[in-house]
Amino acid sequence: MQDPRRSVPRTDVVLDDPRLDLALERLSRAAVKAAVVAALERCRAGDLEPAAVVAAVLESLPPGPAGLRAVINATGVIVHTNLGRAPLSKAAQEAVLTAAGSTDVEFDLETGLRDRRGRGALAALARAVPDAEDVLVVNNGAAALSLVASALADRREIVVARGELVEIGDAFRIPDLLVASGAVLREVGTTNRVHLDDYAEAITDATALVLKVHPSNFVVQGFTASVPVEELAKLPVPVVVDIGSGLLSPQPKLPREPDAKSTLRAGAALVTASADKLLGGPQAGLVLGRSDLVQRMRRHPVARAMRVDKLRLAALEATLSGPTPPVVQALQSDPEVLLFRATAICREVADVVTAEPLRTSAVVGGGGAPDVALQSAAVALPAALAHPLRTGLPAVVGHVSDGRLILDLIAVDPARDATLTSCVRRAARV
Ligand SMILES: *Cc1c(COP(=O)(O)O)cnc(C)c1O
Repeated sequence: MQDPRRSVPRTDVVLDDPRLDLALERLSRAAVKAAVVAALERCRAGDLEPAAVVAAVLESLPPGPAGLRAVINATGVIVHTNLGRAPLSKAAQEAVLTAAGSTDVEFDLETGLRDRRGRGALAALARAVPDAEDVLVVNNGAAALSLVASALADRREIVVARGELVEIGDAFRIPDLLVASGAVLREVGTTNRVHLDDYAEAITDATALVLKVHPSNFVVQGFTASVPVEELAKLPVPVVVDIGSGLLSPQPKLPREPDAKSTLRAGAALVTASADKLLGGPQAGLVLGRSDLVQRMRRHPVARAMRVDKLRLAALEATLSGPTPPVVQALQSDPEVLLFRATAICREVADVVTAEPLRTSAVVGGGGAPDVALQSAAVALPAALAHPLRTGLPAVVGHVSDGRLILDLIAVDPARDATLTSCVRRAARV
């Protein structure tokens, strides 16, 4: 018998095989080489025929250089934190692509001189909220709060209601962040109730500001009381409000979610928020309000460590100035239209799988409004399809309930219904 090792091809010979040319355009040489080395190892061990090496390499290579895969969010959770929160609008995606190369992020092409970084995004934000004297954009909502603590409190006290010392998710606790950023917390009230007097009595020469945090992800019911911004604004220190979800003006579908415009009009000195929740933009932290306070935050040394990159500045500007982003479209979707779409998808897969259109109840998700149920519709399929759909390209993520896979359409772009349909047909055939 011939020694199998003698017929194992050399690494560079395999790498030169024209069938690997496309892979070498899409992936680094090192990545393809690693796959070749692994296949040759199997070949040496006698697990793989030399003639099958190239095919094995192609099969083992990832579809692209980045591991993140496109997902169709059929979970019925509009802002799904594990799926990257808000999906960007087409306009924002195109803006990201343009900004990805060299771009005039802090350069004035007219004069050829250095310019204010991200002026377009800042101007769009200022236009969207005329009640704000000045605006600032940082890395995320947590960064905005951290900068409030370091630049505005600076080892002095932040007065905050006990019931608003919240944990947002993934063990992220706002009080810990504020303390870590150098503020001293002065808690007032009880878990369920706080009054204006509690705040007033806590304010001393050591007080830097009052912070009001919107409890985005829970609701307290029963014997409760909190102090509205209008009342807090009577206190002799600035009131900073973390509205969380990033609504810039009221959203009729979510009457209990605070928005930047109303909060500033009610007397808040500053509002902080995330850009990738209900605003429907990229991850970013927004700061809006009194110009002296925004200036102090902008000039603080830590601000540089929270600077937002050109890709997100581009996406934010396009979200603010462009067409309605997907999150807002999803919020406004008509349940009858969703049911019509679900019925059409079921009809188109009926020859390969049992599918039933259903009325469902969807949620806003990580964006807030935990007590709001949104009328929606879904395609119900056998639960066995959950895994093949989740691991396909694009991946389709739904949820299993009562032994069935539910693909909720509220957060699915209608333009992707055809793709979703072919994903289901493909998954049903394996
Ligand atoms: C989401 C949220 C945050 C954190 O914002 P990130 O952008 O995730 O850092 C802070 N406060 C509130 C009230 C929130 O809802």
